[in-house]
Amino acid sequence: MNYHVLTLFPEMIESGMNTSIIGRAIEKGLISLEAVNIRDYAEEKRKGRVDDYPYGGGAGMVMQPEPVYAAYQALCERIGKRPRVIYLTPQGQVFRQSLAQELAGEENLVFLCGHYEGIDERVLEEIVTDYVSVGDYVLTGGELPAMVMMDAISRMVPGVLNNEESAQFESFQDNLLEYPQYSRPEEWRGKKVPAVLLSGHHGNVDQWRREQSLKRTLERRPDLLEIAELSNKDRKYLELLLANEEEA
Ligand code: SAM
Repeated sequence: MNYHVLTLFPEMIESGMNTSIIGRAIEKGLISLEAVNIRDYAEEKRKGRVDDYPYGGGAGMVMQPEPVYAAYQALCERIGKRPRVIYLTPQGQVFRQSLAQELAGEENLVFLCGHYEGIDERVLEEIVTDYVSVGDYVLTGGELPAMVMMDAISRMVPGVLNNEESAQFESFQDNLLEYPQYSRPEEWRGKKVPAVLLSGHHGNVDQWRREQSLKRTLERRPDLLEIAELSNKDRKYLELLLANEEEA
């Protein structure tokens, strides 16, 4: 997987991505990351400036089309391909695990990070293939969202997670949240690890985890249950939880 980030703040990307699991994947060559400074493609006569006032008035500055386009064209020439270009924007589809999974299958991905009031619409029309948001709030720039996406996508790239890190079941698999996790000690400040997890009975552990996963999703993200993959047994358990809730 080769990531190419078009940004005005390459140092933010470089310092944010070179640690822990992702840093190790870069070292191993499973992932490559280049942060392209859009400012390097500013017109000489504008002395490195890449933004200007919005036509029609209004607050803030807008990133101009030509430096973004020139940075993208140079990138395409360098790699000999025209990869998918993701523009990070609060106006895009909200990023989900299913999109992370889909994008992990690409060989190259370009992340275009806006700043200020955003980027001139005309260059977006020319080069962007996907508009993606990390949530319904407005950030100062696209760098953090790009890092969020690269982190989630990288975990899906074969070999990035080792066996210990690679969970059998994680939140959003089947569109359910993960069950609660416990580690040593068996008792901490009077709170005991649920007995079933110490029983060594795999069938009971699996059932307990599935039920906890359903319970947690019902409590915290009931919207997910509408798209979750549920068995008849799951549905019965949810009905029981709802009946108990009504009684209480
Ligand atoms: N004026 C824009 C609007 O109202 O849609 C917001 C611009 S925002 C201040 C500057 C940049 O931050 C955007 O161009 C985008 O790249 C990034 N950004 C802000 N919020 C984001 C979000 N929720 N998801 C993804 N990117 C975001």
